[in-house]
Amino acid sequence: MPLDHVPALLARATEALEEQFRALPAFEPELAGASDTDRMAEVLQRVAERLGDNYPYFHPLYAGQMLKPPHPVARAAYALAMAINPNNHALDGGRASSAMETEAVAEIARMFGWAERYLGHLTSSGTIANLEALWVCGQIAPGKRIVGSEQAHYTHQRISSVLKLGYTPIAADRHGKMDLNALESELRNGDVGTVVATLGTTAIGAVDPLDQILALRDKYGFRIHADAAYGGYFKLIQQHLDEPARRAFEAIALADSIVVDPHKHGLQPYGCGCVLFRDPAVGRFYKHDSPYTYFSSKELHLGEISLECSRAGAAAVALWATQRMLPLVPEGEFAQGLQKGRQAALDLDRWLRNHSAFTTLATGLPELDIVVWKAVAVDAAGASKTANDIFVESALRGLHLAFVQLPLIWFQSGQIAIAESRATVTCLRSVLMKPEHEAWIGSICATLQSAIEAAQGR
Ligand SMILES: *Cc1c(COP(=O)(O)O)cnc(C)c1O
Repeated sequence: MPLDHVPALLARATEALEEQFRALPAFEPELAGASDTDRMAEVLQRVAERLGDNYPYFHPLYAGQMLKPPHPVARAAYALAMAINPNNHALDGGRASSAMETEAVAEIARMFGWAERYLGHLTSSGTIANLEALWVCGQIAPGKRIVGSEQAHYTHQRISSVLKLGYTPIAADRHGKMDLNALESELRNGDVGTVVATLGTTAIGAVDPLDQILALRDKYGFRIHADAAYGGYFKLIQQHLDEPARRAFEAIALADSIVVDPHKHGLQPYGCGCVLFRDPAVGRFYKHDSPYTYFSSKELHLGEISLECSRAGAAAVALWATQRMLPLVPEGEFAQGLQKGRQAALDLDRWLRNHSAFTTLATGLPELDIVVWKAVAVDAAGASKTANDIFVESALRGLHLAFVQLPLIWFQSGQIAIAESRATVTCLRSVLMKPEHEAWIGSICATLQSAIEAAQGR
């Protein structure tokens, strides 16, 4: 990877950091083995060898799961923070990094349209961020049910069970979006406390009709949690999305809580999710009084508004640095990167649509940057087997894809027999998250072509 200048920049910044602590009396760190450079080199050599047992996530020909390399400034800022290893639980453990977290989160909130009044913080993941949001829902409406589309992230059901809240999946339509009729019939029971709207499903990047769910909120009264762990940053390019997705993103500021994962599309190392609440008064639910806690001032400590205790201050530092380099603004460089991935998805989808060996979704184009397709075969079992063969043949040619299990009817047009409607098929899936994917689509299609020919010859 041509990033040779980064270590030198990091060394310079490390010196500047050390300068600030130079007045301290000198000491010898007691780190067993730390001066044994031969042994450390040997261990690191083995680490490098072990790490080779991975797919090349950083390369454009890795076009499978949701994996996007962190920005070099995020990696460098994270490494720089390791000289201090701050803990963002309390200001005592991470003063600068707590301030940087507050600033970085304010920029994310502003992206969604929340400027002054909101509450938010980073978490270790989207799952924990969703847990916090649903926990608040349970505090506000105890005993009421959570509902989310059957295409919502699988952890919502499990989180609800951890929180001892009822959870009901709502049918998804053939676009992979929450079916509003199915939702309304659940709402009529009167015991739904929260609707989880997914803006960018993990399987196909479908965007639930948040604008229409909001209209139902006026009628039935419930909280709306927007799980935008994957899709949140597409807010920046909403005007380039197709109308249903655009309308959902335009409405996102009206949700009660929002989750977005900087470690998915936000160019961050893992360990960086984010939860935001529209009403800062939900902070009262977090109140605690633990004898271990070392809150030493009246200023807000992030541990006072978070379910987690210790959290990586370095994650906040990396995010802050990245947002300095690439501000979260429409038409900015970061937004252009999202736009390129989306273009790559549209290009790949068009190629697949015109290919006799493949079938794409019957209902339309990819809404974000995730493409799914089915192999043409006499039946679902044959299509699943061919998908498997193509996956293997592609990998042999350096192209890495993913699988997804989807309802067969999503690929069929016209009337569908009820008996058929639950059948699923193994499909191929490609998440085109990297800006480089746009330039590499030709190569990806050529490799797929050669893989299908090899699969057909099997
Ligand atoms: C990835 C994802 C999650 C879970 O987030 P993690 O950071 O993997 O814990 C939740 N919801 C959606 C829609 C996701 O795509």
